[in-house]
Amino acid sequence: MGELEIRDALDAGKTVTVDGETLPVLAQTDVLVAGGGPAGSMAAIASGRRGAATILVEAQPFLGGIATGGPIHSYYWGLSGGLQDELDRRNAELDPQLAASVRGWHPEGRKIALDTMAERAGVNLWLRTSVTGAILEGDTVRGVIVDGACGRGVILAETIVDATGDGDVATLAGARWRMGREGDGIPMAYSLTPGTSRERDGAQVAYANFDAGWTYPTDPIDYARAFTIARRYLWRDPYDEEKRSLFSGAILGVRESRTIVGEYTLTLDDLFFGKCFPDTIGKTRSHYDNHARDYALESTQARIFCDVAGNWKTALECDVPYRALVPANLDGLLVAGRCISMTHDAAQAVRMIKDMHRIGEAAGIAAAISARDDVSTREVGVAELQRELVKTGILTDAEIAAGRREERRQPRLIPELIEALGEEGRETAIWELYRVGEAAHDALIEALASDEERARYAALVLGAQGVEEARPLLVRMVEERDDTVPSNHPYVQPRWVGALACLTMEPRVEERDLYAAALEAEAPFAEPWLYALEGIEALSDPEAAGAVRCLLERIRADERYWSETYDPKEHPGWKLEIAAAKALRAMGDPEGEEILRRYVDDRRLTVSRYARSLLEEASEE
Ligand SMILES: Cc1cc2nc3c(=O)[nH]c(=O)nc-3n(C[C@H](O)[C@H](O)[C@H](O)COP(=O)(O)OP(=O)(O)OC[C@H]3O[C@@H](n4cnc5c(N)ncnc54)[C@H](O)[C@@H]3O)c2cc1C
Repeated sequence: MGELEIRDALDAGKTVTVDGETLPVLAQTDVLVAGGGPAGSMAAIASGRRGAATILVEAQPFLGGIATGGPIHSYYWGLSGGLQDELDRRNAELDPQLAASVRGWHPEGRKIALDTMAERAGVNLWLRTSVTGAILEGDTVRGVIVDGACGRGVILAETIVDATGDGDVATLAGARWRMGREGDGIPMAYSLTPGTSRERDGAQVAYANFDAGWTYPTDPIDYARAFTIARRYLWRDPYDEEKRSLFSGAILGVRESRTIVGEYTLTLDDLFFGKCFPDTIGKTRSHYDNHARDYALESTQARIFCDVAGNWKTALECDVPYRALVPANLDGLLVAGRCISMTHDAAQAVRMIKDMHRIGEAAGIAAAISARDDVSTREVGVAELQRELVKTGILTDAEIAAGRREERRQPRLIPELIEALGEEGRETAIWELYRVGEAAHDALIEALASDEERARYAALVLGAQGVEEARPLLVRMVEERDDTVPSNHPYVQPRWVGALACLTMEPRVEERDLYAAALEAEAPFAEPWLYALEGIEALSDPEAAGAVRCLLERIRADERYWSETYDPKEHPGWKLEIAAAKALRAMGDPEGEEILRRYVDDRRLTVSRYARSLLEEASEE
């Protein structure tokens, strides 16, 4: 963070002194956008079209971010509307000249379309230039420091949009941020997507997305490790006459990095109940996909939402409030794209390209208004911003009205929800009943005596809230290995795993053998073992040490849990070993700490940091 010590920078011979370093002022502008991915490119174009002098600073030599250099060139979930519709039309015109067939859009076509739109909007592009510092006057961000082939200098701006994906500008300016999940601190799995050619409708320009593992994306050494390891994975799939690998992405496929703490933080509940906000800038839509199938290591809410209730594919949609773009303790700055203010749970759903386009466009319009009216970013007239978004097709009048009324879907009535437990679509009823809380307990306890199917789902809801009456049925479900699933998707856990998740939240000594036996179960994912290990850890009972050691032996002998050539969904070796180590350590078994110490110097920063935090935690106790 640099504190501006200027007289008037431009009048003073075009230099500023930042923390004792005198830097040339390279430019001054109304709006500066940092990062030209889906969010930043739309922000800059929207700002330029509203007459604001706009500079877009991008580290790569092209626009589009992950949507071109990723190269993730097709949409998944998200909502249409706004400038992106024009971008899609331009791609549709260009693409046939580039390839007979493309999956989604041609990434080179998109680069050209973005260049054209930026140029026509009068955007001043600074490519191959990185933002490396922020210049502050009090709490207001007045400019950025950039580094590139031109050297190091300053760009001063009335308003700045941070669309770097990592929230670089906000962080450099001192904003508070979050990254990763509470337990082990890891963000969502990353990928290094190869561009491919497939024999489909003629040689199709395509890509083969996969999960390569985890990285701490803002650490250059871990980023380099992740990049080089992922490049080796490109040969994982056999390539043949039908499918060829052409190149690996220029940008690492980071799905989640820092999210900046803003005036409002979007949550999973907002998404589930479709919350509408008075300062809505449009909706976002997707589902909760953590790309790892290890919800046992996610938040309590995520465990219940996905593993107990089976909401893996449930659509999540809500308004994005303007306040989620306004960093809590800073002025002169907006964040756009995947670094907006949201919890880790919400970030598993709010990241799709269409929605990043929409959020970016709204940020660009707001920045142009802020610069034009010389008002702080938090004082931008939301009514004007919303009118502009109606014109561009991102918002409707009805959505604005719903926002003013702060509408949100209310949970259905309890009898209706209990009825729904016996029907398809029950996963949302389970969650609603869970969120209703105590008010539903009597009806749920009554349902325990109703038909067996409904009773088992009622037990899951009660179990998630630690209600004693559900315990015997939950135990039975685990003993029987009840493999019915609440909803149909390969990533949804069977009921016995949901029951185990509930039981191990408040484990009992008399259930120790039940948890130990779960460690012997065959399971496609690590979920049941992770839940069982957590229960065993909380009991701290040395009697369970044998079962933990057996699991360790089994996973250590199985190449699938360790091989880097496997999808991380299937090689959770380190996670299991650390979970087992925690359980052993809780029993006072020295092997627990020994295992954790082995991970302290792990070359994967996410893993070593986690191991270190566990050891530090113990030494503080
Ligand atoms: C592997 C993977 C698969 C995905 N699959 C899909 C899918 O199928 N469909 C879908 O809709 N979405 C998908 N997504 C999500 C989507 O691609 C991203 O969430 C989206 O691209 C985020 O947009 P953004 O503009 O916020 O960030 P990014 O796309 O990351 O763009 C950020 C830009 O900022 C630049 N930058 C970073 N730091 C600086 C700096 N300091 N100075 C200057 N420039 C900087 C970067 O070079 C980059 O161009 C996927 C994401 C990944 C990683």
